[in-house]
Order: sequence, then structure tokens, then C-alpha cells
Amino acid sequence: MMPPTHPSLVPLPASPDDFRDATWDTLQRYYDQLAAVPLAAESGVVEPWLATWSRLDTLVSEAGTLAMIGYTANTADAAAEQAYLRFSMEIFPKVDEQQVRLARRLVDLGWSRPDLETTLRRFRSEIEIFREANVPRFAQLEELSAGYQKITGGLSVDWDGEPKTIPQLQPLLKSPDRAVRERAFRVGATAYLDKRDEFASLFDRMYALRVAVAREAGFADFQQYCFTAKHRFDYTPADTARFHDAVKATVTPAVERLMRHRREVLGVETLRPWDVGVDLNVQEPLRPFDTVDTFVGRAREIFDRVDPELGGQFRLMAKEQLLDLESRPGKAPGGYCTDLSFRGRPFIFMNAVGVPDDVNTLVHEAGHCFHDFSTHQLPLTWQRRCGHEAAELASMSMELLAMPYLVQPVGYYTPEQARAAWLEHLEDILSALVHIASVDAFQAWIYTSPEGGSAEARDRQWLRIRSDFETGVDWSGLERERVARWYRQLHIFELPFYYIEYGIAQLGALQVFRNAVRNPREAVAAYKRFLALGGTRPLPELYREAGASLVFDAATMGELVAFAEEQITLLRSGKPAPFQSVMPV
Ligand SMILES: [Zn+2]
Repeated sequence: MMPPTHPSLVPLPASPDDFRDATWDTLQRYYDQLAAVPLAAESGVVEPWLATWSRLDTLVSEAGTLAMIGYTANTADAAAEQAYLRFSMEIFPKVDEQQVRLARRLVDLGWSRPDLETTLRRFRSEIEIFREANVPRFAQLEELSAGYQKITGGLSVDWDGEPKTIPQLQPLLKSPDRAVRERAFRVGATAYLDKRDEFASLFDRMYALRVAVAREAGFADFQQYCFTAKHRFDYTPADTARFHDAVKATVTPAVERLMRHRREVLGVETLRPWDVGVDLNVQEPLRPFDTVDTFVGRAREIFDRVDPELGGQFRLMAKEQLLDLESRPGKAPGGYCTDLSFRGRPFIFMNAVGVPDDVNTLVHEAGHCFHDFSTHQLPLTWQRRCGHEAAELASMSMELLAMPYLVQPVGYYTPEQARAAWLEHLEDILSALVHIASVDAFQAWIYTSPEGGSAEARDRQWLRIRSDFETGVDWSGLERERVARWYRQLHIFELPFYYIEYGIAQLGALQVFRNAVRNPREAVAAYKRFLALGGTRPLPELYREAGASLVFDAATMGELVAFAEEQITLLRSGKPAPFQSVMPV
């Protein structure tokens, strides 16, 4: 925790525990007091006022985070659920409104400081798009999102007389038995197709609200609105269109080559959608660890090798019980890294069962944690915040920086298993870029085409886009199943336009990885300098500090794809790939 650098202008509680049971009425008093402090640019009050506001923000935010951790750790606890809902539904939307109210005071003063330029820029755009009339529209969108979650959460399929959830079909899609894979694929797609009309009408209502939100705020369309709302100051819709074209020109053919190789190894006439998940490189599924102790212990060794300081931070998290990793009955599904912003510590939540995905998740989330540790050195909460493009650069780079150490004696795998895990990771990166670009291109079309409001036109357009981006797999006779894929993409429903960030960050992470192959020490040092900047610089500068750039063009993207393919080819042939040279002897 950083000591407050200024005396508090408003008396605040000493810890987030005092806000544990707070209702909005309690909290509003603090914001009203802050709003009433007389401010003048030259008075010397602005900095203590900002420090007080920041401290209040971290107190409320940590109280809400603790409520979320409490609920996700035990979803059967009704009191924990109540507390979580009070923060997420009642308190945080109001805090957002207060943020705009107080930000307006600051912006109106015309006051600035170099390390707060990016904060002020974000404040200005939040003020610019805020409309009282949109508040109820966002509340309705929240309800519709909950409706989507309800339908998808309730999906269940019959498997030999046993009910299975969609995630439970995942291992079956990796089965060496092709007939099992096909059946798993078909029942999974059918579960979504059976609800297609419900999903489509839900989306119709979301679409209408989003169009209204954009119009109310004076934007030409919802894509333009989202670029401002998401603080995308450094790239435009035209850049993302270039990104789509570059993926089509460079990644799509590379994935087609991967698929050709897969078809040959599997020895099948044509590669069908149920053939893409099965592991080509190992017979037995990998079991990287049996106990949480081994899981954490090996991770500690891995991070120590990447960088002793980062390793020390991970050790601290283990010591302070900031890791809730093992799957237990009652725990919410999925995984996340969150930030206890008052005490300045990150926290990892996940559901580990001993599969390779658990290793990937832990290393990814740890990348977010290292970012949090580093940015907590910055005095004000807004300086620590950056967009997803930078946040995911931290986590995706860590996945690649940690890769050489996944092998024993440091990591989890025998050399043969490590080779399979590395191949899968690198191939997934390329396939994911194709998926990301098609999801983004589809959303751009929905919100800028006159036909975006038509359910039939959306399905047709998805098929068109998907067949442009995703080649090498034979989907003939499976058009409806292919359509079902977009209904599964929750971002399109709940978090519109939040997706290309992953692609931008993945291409940044590949650059960090390429730098590490050439000079690991310098690449990690640059990565740490990037972490320390938080959100205090514009996005291109953050990337530059990490030794990377924002990539939207085919030439640069093509070089990175070639780099990834080179590692894949060497790994397949059994020869050491260049990145392995970083390995400890
Ligand atoms: Zn992430």
C-alpha cells in the first residue's frame, strides 16, 4: 500500500471492510462532499482533492472486489450473492456516474499534469458521450445480457442418457475416436440451434438499444460510439478493416497449411469441423500436475526463471493466500485475475483440475498480476488503468515468455509433452487470430450495414465472413452448425466490439516473444518497463516500451506469422526451436 501523499480532504474510512455492508446512500455522501470542495486551478487544492477521490475509489472498488471474490468462491452462499449483486447492480453504475460528475469538475478547470494527460483524455471522452437518457438503456442492456446468460447457462445435452453441459463436451471433441468427436460436435451445435430464434430476438432488442444509444450521443453509428467509449484514441475503424484484410492475407493461408498437415497426420479424406480439436502429438492427454501444491510450486520455479522479481511477486501471492486455484463444488466457473486496489495486491481465481489449460490460465493471469504489482507504484488509481490492448499484452506476453520453462526439471512436462504443449499453443495463436478477425469484421458489419437489424441477414453475413477467413476445413452440409458459432460468442451479445483487443495484444506478444528469442534479458527488461507505465502513456508508446508496435498491416503481420510457423516446423521435426535456447541448462 502506498502512503497517502496528501492529507485527505474528506474523512474516509481506514479500510474497505468499513464499506462491506455499505448501500449507495452511505457512499453518496462521500462523493457529494468531494463534489462540494471548492476547486481552483492555482489553489493547490487540486492534487489533494484528486488523491482523496482516488483513495475513495480504491476503497469502494476493493470492497466490491471482495464481495465478488466471496460470491464466486461459494455461489451457494445467499448473503454473499446479495452483497455481490448490491455492488454490481446498485453501487458500481452509480460510481460510474459520479466519476463523470467529478471528472467534469476537473476538466472544466483546465488543469493538467504530464503524467495525467492520458487520464484527462479518457475523462474528456467519458464526459463527451455521457447522456442521462442512455442510463435506462444501459440498464435494459444489462437485463438482456442476463437473459443471454440464463439461456446459455441452462443449455444441456443428452449424452448416452446423461445430461452434459456444453463445457463438458470439450474433452469429447478431443477424443481419438472420430465418431465420438462428430457426435459431440453435432449435439453441441444443435443445443444452440434449438434456441436460435430466442437468441435472435434477444439480439434484435440489443441491437435497437445500441443504435439508440449511439444516436442519442450524437454518433453516426454504434461502431463509432464504441471507439470513443472504449478510448480507442490510437486506431480507427479503417485500421481494424486493414487488420481483417491482413489476417485474410497472412494468417488464413497459414492456418490452411496447419489444417493440411492435420488432415495428412489424421489420414482423413477431408478435414471436418470435429477434427480440429484432437491432439496430433500425444496419445495420452497431458496431466501436468496432480495437486495444487505441485501446480503452484512449479509455477513459482517458472516465474523465477523468467525474472526473479516477478517470481518473488508470485511467491508473495502464494504466501498471502491470494490464489484460489482448485476446482470445488459451489465455485463459479471460469477464471480471473482481479485487483485489490486499496491494499495493492492482485488475486487469482480459477478452477484447476489438472489439465494443460490450467497451466495456460495460471501463466496468463499471473501476467495480469505482475502488471498490477507494477502499476501499484503509481500514486493515482486512474494512472494504473489501461485498455485491454495493453492489459492483454501483459498477460499474453507472459504466456510466451514462460514457454521455454514449461519443461522439466523446472516446469510440468517431459520434453515430449512440452513439445506437444508448445505446438498446441503456437497453433492456437494462429487459429485464434482468424477467429478474432472474423468476429470483429462481423460486428463491424452488423453496426454499419443497413441490414444489421435483420436476423436472417446476420446469419447469411456470418457465413460469408466465416468462409472468407476460415479455410482448410470442409463445412459442406453443416451451414446451420456453422451459423450456430456466432450465437455462442458471448462478447457479441454482452460486450460488443470487445474482441479485436485480443488480436492486437497477441501480435504484440509475438513481438515480445521474438525479442526474447534474440535477447531474453533485454526483452524481459522492456516488458517490465512497459508494466510500470500502467496507463500513463498513449497505447503506441506503451507498446513501444515493451519492444512492440500495434500491427494492422499485412507486411508486419506476415513476418510474425512466418516467425510462428518457423517454430512450429522445427518443433514438428523434433529439432530444437530457437525459443528453446532460452531454456535453463
Ligand atoms: Zn487476460
